[in-house]
Amino acid sequence: MAFTKLAQDRPRVLIVGGGYVGFTVAQKIQKAVKETGGVVTIVEPNPYMTYQPFLPEVAAGSIEGRNATVPLRQHLRDTEIVGGRITKINHATKTATVEPIDAGEAFDITYDEIVLGAGAVTRAFPIPGLAEVAIGMKSVEEAVAVRNWVLERIEVASLEENEDARRRALTFVIVGGGFAGIETIAELEDMAREAVKRNDRLRVSDLRFVLVEAAPRIMPEVPADRAEKVVAELRARGIEVLLNTSLADATDGHLALINMGDKSPAGELDTDTLIWTAGVAASPMLKDTDFPIDERGRVRVGADLRVTGDNGVIEGAWAAGDNAAVPDLSGGGVGGFCVPNAQHASRQAVKLAENLLAARRGESLTDYYHENMGAVAGLGSWKGVANIKGKSISGPLAWLMHRGYHGMAIPTTERTARVVAGWAMNQIFGRDTTSIRHQRSPRRAFQTATGTAPEKSKARL
Ligand SMILES: Cc1cc2nc3c(=O)[nH]c(=O)nc-3n(C[C@H](O)[C@H](O)[C@H](O)COP(=O)(O)OP(=O)(O)OC[C@H]3O[C@@H](n4cnc5c(N)ncnc54)[C@H](O)[C@@H]3O)c2cc1C
Repeated sequence: MAFTKLAQDRPRVLIVGGGYVGFTVAQKIQKAVKETGGVVTIVEPNPYMTYQPFLPEVAAGSIEGRNATVPLRQHLRDTEIVGGRITKINHATKTATVEPIDAGEAFDITYDEIVLGAGAVTRAFPIPGLAEVAIGMKSVEEAVAVRNWVLERIEVASLEENEDARRRALTFVIVGGGFAGIETIAELEDMAREAVKRNDRLRVSDLRFVLVEAAPRIMPEVPADRAEKVVAELRARGIEVLLNTSLADATDGHLALINMGDKSPAGELDTDTLIWTAGVAASPMLKDTDFPIDERGRVRVGADLRVTGDNGVIEGAWAAGDNAAVPDLSGGGVGGFCVPNAQHASRQAVKLAENLLAARRGESLTDYYHENMGAVAGLGSWKGVANIKGKSISGPLAWLMHRGYHGMAIPTTERTARVVAGWAMNQIFGRDTTSIRHQRSPRRAFQTATGTAPEKSKARL
């Protein structure tokens, strides 16, 4: 039988990206499309959906990396999975170009309908040295690497006699005071404190955690007074929170900070660990398509989630989540559009799936409407903050709400069970604060055995 990469004989619903939107839409439509003789195809470079709200807890070792992902093949049995990245879309000819993982030959894939769920990428700025030394917090690989790195720095520092090198190893800097940055710094500080307590050669006061935020406040998702309380709580834990401050230079990990107002110097510090969480931008792939894109690079859609240009609806094209400018009919969005978060992405995906199936049956479509329910954030063990329908909560109750909400929200019961079981184990046996060594160079032991190991050089994140 001739090898064919993909189903050729059935009308295809092509889903770009297997994140919140892609996974949920496929889950909701795969059976119905199959029953009517069609095929749902997801093109996604990762074999899993990443549950990004868990990344700070992965970085802090409270959740095992793989448990913050949802395997596509295991849970989307009636969907065709393609391990690759869409690089171009020509909707006029209903053709998309796929670049397979591991640099295989690119090929074209045709479709009847398309769902754009490519999400967003980390938005960085041309700051000298940033690209060379920093890491983001958008993928499970980054979160796992950060966990191992932070724990390794603590171990390295405990044997370092040079005071400057020791201080540098124990200084951890996060840029960006949104939810991702605040949760990351708070969770990491919690883990680092625990790791240091297990190491006789270090004291908790040796650790330095610094948060840099350009705006005058953190966490725009919660009311200002609650955000101020979070700042006070973080500072009480010894975390330095620098507001109205921006990173001007990061060359070789020597950070130069400036005041946002007059751009005057706001201090310098040396670090081995710089984590960048200062915002996201819609997938740049959208620029290589013939879809209407707004000034922020998002694909334009109507409230029914059909792609809509100046001349009206573009038939057979749908979009939702971080890569789409979805009108916020509740009036609560930024500039009239839904903010890019999981709360919207997961609900928009459900509405998109309903509308896509309704359109196929010739039924009328309904608009996406969701009033923001609030936000929950974990700030380390038994510490959290929540703002539910205007009511502010903090401390252990907010932490339990955070865990309860996200524990249930991660797709599939199987993943909920794995995550909750991991939390339970940590409560019983304590958090595991050992790093997996040489994860960045797994061939090192074999190279040593064969006498081909490269000279030891300064480790970098
Ligand atoms: C650290 C962190 C913490 C967060 N915490 C919260 C929180 O507590 N609450 C909340 O509401 N939101 C939170 N968010 C935001 C939330 O995770 C996103 O808004 C949500 O994931 C958006 O869903 P999406 O489907 O649009 O995109 P994603 O979930 O990012 O999925 C996009 C998918 O598309 C794939 N892709 C990209 N380009 C291509 C391409 N060219 N071809 C094929 N596939 C492609 C990607 O690999 C990815 O799997 C957090 C985000 C981060 C980074």
